[in-house]
Amino acid sequence: MTDQETAADDCLFCRIIRREIPADVVLEDEHTLAFRDISPQAPVHVLVIPKVHHPDAAALAAAAPEALVALVEAVGAVADQEGLWEGYRTVFNTGARAHQTVFHAHAHVLGGRDMAWPPG
Ligand code: 5GP
Repeated sequence: MTDQETAADDCLFCRIIRREIPADVVLEDEHTLAFRDISPQAPVHVLVIPKVHHPDAAALAAAAPEALVALVEAVGAVADQEGLWEGYRTVFNTGARAHQTVFHAHAHVLGGRDMAWPPG
């Protein structure tokens, strides 16, 4: 089964992967696409997504662990590329109560400002 066969027709991020919806892409490789969030919550706010469709990071880990490893490697590459030498935050919102709004696994990479803890 190809990546596109597992993609969801009506998934926003699958549509970005297929270039049906424009995005400001900052990095792409065989497994992963990274693009700027349309509503940035920090000076740098990039979404890193797998090219295979799974609803969240845990489902991705169970079904395609190599894609999750590639995603985390891409997070590091984005941080390097964006010059986040002093630190950055990686967030996987999982489920509606955690404010997940797009049910295609994704990591938020946030940086360029001081981060608070605990998160809201
Ligand atoms: P979640 O809330 O699911 O963790 O994150 C989804 C993210 O996708 C949000 O931060 C939201 O701003 C972003 N987003 C929603 N629609 C679009 C879009 O069309 N383009 C881009 N680049 N980001 C989007």
